[in-house]
Amino acid sequence: MTVASWQEIGSIQLLNKQVPLLKPGEVLVKVAASGICGTDLHICHGETPHATPKVVIGHEFSGYVHSFHPETKAYNLQVGDLVAIDPNMPCNQCTFCRNQKYHLCPHLFCIGVTVDGGMSHYVAVPARAAMPIPKKTNVDGSSVAAVTPEVAALAEPLSCVVHAIDQGHIKTGDRVLVLGAGPIGLMTTALASLSGAHVTVIEPNEMRRQTAVQSFGAAEAVAPGVLPAVRGELGEGYDVVFECVGRPATCAEAVRFAKAGGIVVWVGVTKVDDRVQVAPFEIYRKELTITSTYTNPYGIERAVNILAQGKVDWQALISHQFKLSEFSDAWEVFKAGTGLKVIIAP
Ligand SMILES: [Zn+2]
Ligand SMILES: [Zn+2]
Repeated sequence: MTVASWQEIGSIQLLNKQVPLLKPGEVLVKVAASGICGTDLHICHGETPHATPKVVIGHEFSGYVHSFHPETKAYNLQVGDLVAIDPNMPCNQCTFCRNQKYHLCPHLFCIGVTVDGGMSHYVAVPARAAMPIPKKTNVDGSSVAAVTPEVAALAEPLSCVVHAIDQGHIKTGDRVLVLGAGPIGLMTTALASLSGAHVTVIEPNEMRRQTAVQSFGAAEAVAPGVLPAVRGELGEGYDVVFECVGRPATCAEAVRFAKAGGIVVWVGVTKVDDRVQVAPFEIYRKELTITSTYTNPYGIERAVNILAQGKVDWQALISHQFKLSEFSDAWEVFKAGTGLKVIIAP
């Protein structure tokens, strides 16, 4: 089978590899759709410290259950089921795993980062990583998965956004600001809007601004520099600000736009050595909470349910689709950053 693998710093290449042999507890998944993510770019550039050299990338994917190891106990899976994959698997033994913070587990293994992932035809995953997509019933009584495999591949990034939204503690009626309208910013916009917030988006790309308003529930979307500076201590500004870019300048800007008493969530992933300049006095005076969000604890089932509810046109997030054999074209489109989610359907 063909796989896309991180071979050396700066390069992801197509290779041939054997279909994986299953170990006890595992399920073989035939990949149906696999998204490219900013994390893959960080991995490619050697900026993800826990990534394993030569790993097959792909941590945002869906597929069909193909087979089970005879010693695998899979209580809610059947051959042929469409599943979304939760790539983050904890050790279940460390202090974090024992205290409801399994996503902080130092021994977390991540499918597509530390072990071979979904930019491939087949992947072996632990049974608990495979989250079945709910079925809907047709008029003739037959049932099918409630979303397409391409939309199911959005479950992992959406599960990260579910956690980001949890971290923001939005209350209905809040004024929310989202910096950046890439796929994560748009998903954040949609879930904040569904939570009853008035959502403003700042984004330089016009197509993304339009998408934020037309498809993802933003009340308004403006270019950087358009919004006036706020005096958050006088009651202007935003109750919750989500930084979905991953750059020091926007991390600092997020703090400046927060209303006194507000919450700033740094969602975007910066480079390891980046530093942000903020004024401690401003944080003191506005009594701000600056928090972050790391992976997707307890988020995958909620994400799948949100996708299946269909309140948002999630398909609008997918701007490009390629075959795995066209990976290098997909990678160039992704790096150009002019589209939204780029999906590989092997
Ligand atoms: Zn990702
Ligand atoms: Zn652990």
